[in-house]
Amino acid sequence: MKNNITKKTVIALLVAAMLSSCAMVEDVPTIGSDAPISSIESSSIPEESFEEEVPVVIEPVEEEPLEEPEPIPEPVVYISSTEVEPGDYIILRAENLDLKDYTFVDFLDYHREFIAKDGGWYCFIPVKTAADPGSYKLEFSVGDFTYSETVKVLERKAPKQYLVVAPSTLEQTLEDDAVRAAFNEFYQEYRWYETGIRFWEDDFMMPLGDSWYNETTKFGTFRTFSNGDTEWHNAVDMAVGGGTPIYATNSGVILFADYLGLTGYTIVINHGMGVLSWHYHLSSMKVETGDAVEKGDFIGRVGTTGLSTGNHLHFAISVGGIFVDPLDVTENGIDLEFWKVTEE
Ligand SMILES: [Zn+2]
Repeated sequence: MKNNITKKTVIALLVAAMLSSCAMVEDVPTIGSDAPISSIESSSIPEESFEEEVPVVIEPVEEEPLEEPEPIPEPVVYISSTEVEPGDYIILRAENLDLKDYTFVDFLDYHREFIAKDGGWYCFIPVKTAADPGSYKLEFSVGDFTYSETVKVLERKAPKQYLVVAPSTLEQTLEDDAVRAAFNEFYQEYRWYETGIRFWEDDFMMPLGDSWYNETTKFGTFRTFSNGDTEWHNAVDMAVGGGTPIYATNSGVILFADYLGLTGYTIVINHGMGVLSWHYHLSSMKVETGDAVEKGDFIGRVGTTGLSTGNHLHFAISVGGIFVDPLDVTENGIDLEFWKVTEE
């Protein structure tokens, strides 16, 4: 529109200039006239007659066609299960949600972050062993979107155990403040360790391979020691001959391989995405902190170092800082089917 007005104005001014020099037509405005453009346009002088002499180059303005906005896909959040036992875990999978900023889910005292994987976003939410049965709200928000689901925590019938430990062993372990402090420091430092990378693949193997073992303490046992101390035993104790080889349950990186007064020779493997495996009371270690291991690699031998009453492997798996039933993981994996994102 602006160009058209400019063109007409220029033409009108030229017409006016030419006509005023002839002084023949009174009603044509002269330069500087206040006459509105509409009166110029209504002039009886045809514009075409001047266009050849006064070329006015006008670039056509191409207006970009308005594109139809793509429909925004609806956010979807899948939950692996809405009924869990203490010591179990939940996985959330979110699609079509803008989760680039840190997005956390708070559930039963745990603050868990969404992690990107294979084009989707996942959040591992462990349910602590000591969780009381009942219904709990699981909620999070991203922008205007709010997810809310009720999760039922079922009752877990925890086995109980009374463990007699020799007084000399107790003195060197549970009753030694420095030993306890060293363990607590180790535990707090590594328990929450998490990398976005996933090293584990497929199934988790038994850490003793095909070796026969006696399950002397089940996962989730409430244990009372002979000195009155209590603990939730968040691992499985596998009694087997001293020196029996121990293998990496899955691929990963050795996060910790050292001696601790309470747990003896101790190996923790980081399998990625918050999944760690823990091995206590070894007689010897074949790996060092920082070593990369593949599933089945020989990492050490069974022993009875630290707070232990006989040769056994204390084997645990934690997910995001929470211990889950390790034999459930070796039997069923970590719900890998659920992790697969549907290909389009
Ligand atoms: Zn144990």
